[in-house]
Amino acid sequence: MKKKLSIIGGGACALVLASEIDTKQFDVTLYERNANLGRKFLVAGDGGLNITHSESKAQFIKRYTPHEFLQSAFDSFSNEDLITWLNDLGIETFTGSSGRVFPDKGIKPAEVLAVFLKKIKINSVVVKTKHTWQGFGINNSLLVEHNNQLLEIKSDVIVYCLGGASWPVTGSKGDWLRYFADKNISVKEFQSSNCAFKIVWPEDLVSKIEGKVLKNISLSSGNKKHEGEIVLTKFGVEGSGIYPLSPEIRDQLNVTGAADITIDLKPSLTPDKIIEKLAGGGNKNLSDILKNVLNFTQTHIQLLKTFISKEDFLDHKKLTGHIKSFKLTITGMAPIEEAISTVGGVSLPEINKNFELKKLPGHYAIGEMLDYDAPTGGYLLQSCFTMGKCLAEHLNSSNI
Ligand SMILES: Cc1cc2nc3c(=O)[nH]c(=O)nc-3n(C[C@H](O)[C@H](O)[C@H](O)COP(=O)(O)OP(=O)(O)OC[C@H]3O[C@@H](n4cnc5c(N)ncnc54)[C@H](O)[C@@H]3O)c2cc1C
Repeated sequence: MKKKLSIIGGGACALVLASEIDTKQFDVTLYERNANLGRKFLVAGDGGLNITHSESKAQFIKRYTPHEFLQSAFDSFSNEDLITWLNDLGIETFTGSSGRVFPDKGIKPAEVLAVFLKKIKINSVVVKTKHTWQGFGINNSLLVEHNNQLLEIKSDVIVYCLGGASWPVTGSKGDWLRYFADKNISVKEFQSSNCAFKIVWPEDLVSKIEGKVLKNISLSSGNKKHEGEIVLTKFGVEGSGIYPLSPEIRDQLNVTGAADITIDLKPSLTPDKIIEKLAGGGNKNLSDILKNVLNFTQTHIQLLKTFISKEDFLDHKKLTGHIKSFKLTITGMAPIEEAISTVGGVSLPEINKNFELKKLPGHYAIGEMLDYDAPTGGYLLQSCFTMGKCLAEHLNSSNI
């Protein structure tokens, strides 16, 4: 007789799991609180659906904090495997100059979602929308609300794919932590990741720098360094250059309420080379020399003039020190409603290598609902797809 398998949540990882689960072995029902599946997946596609990244597998896995829990799953379903899997579904991909991988130009996120939904339908998975999981009943049955009625659902296998807590309008509200906590499963409150970071700018600076971009810089926090670009905003800074430093910045903020970041405004040049270039700038005004010999914009100059003393600005050696090691202090993070992703959720020691909850055998948790961090660049979706695919393979091959 077929086993009964319930999937709770219909986001990125559930879409792959439901596509790949063997419905000859399992009667599968997917419960989703929204009227449609994949709402966050569509939001993710708004600015270009960055589905994965093309960098080497060894480098790729290190982007996750921590990465060990995902290693064996990623070994079986890597970024390269995902691209092949998508291609087999008819979704061709292209790699941008930054190494980020997207569905081919012209393929809209809604079309990618439609391909997944078709595969799930062909796979005979029953989809029940407007069904909200509300905790556990007797013998760990599922209590699911539908049309103001509380249904009690018994299953042999349950997979939670509840997502994180950013952009709660998509249905990923993170309002289920207490259900697991009541089962003595360790959970952590959600916090923002890949979000804007707060900097208290001097008032007269804001109007001059708001919306400006610092390109080709290198940022560091703690032991981590990342090259990229940031956007300066009224709130502070955001962008792909700073998102990978989220774990280090968050850790410092949690301990002291402030986090220092250091920016190398000219990573392509050594300090000696910068001093040499400044010296070769002639008798021009120093701001003009910075523009001419280092390609600095007015924004670089306004930042330097605001945050370092006039004496340091006029001294080539000291100025070079600030250019290579420009300090800013972060005092907060954007609220989770505005963040791209979150950390928090089910603590990783609570799951085994197959994503099964150790204290609830037969219950599995995958995706952003687990407490790990990943930067933007396709790493979030890749991890969700990897977990969905590998869990399907595990369930299909094990005699549960
Ligand atoms: C603005 C934005 C842009 C992004 N861009 C990218 C990008 O380009 N590349 C990338 O890799 N990642 C991106 N992400 C992140 C990515 O979308 C998520 O990491 C990913 O969708 C998480 O997948 P998931 O399956 O874990 O959860 P989700 O996709 O969040 O799905 C969880 C589902 O569970 C449902 N649910 C929750 N609670 C219940 C309940 N109690 N009962 C029933 N159903 C429930 C929710 O309604 C939701 O449909 C972006 C995110 C945002 C917000």
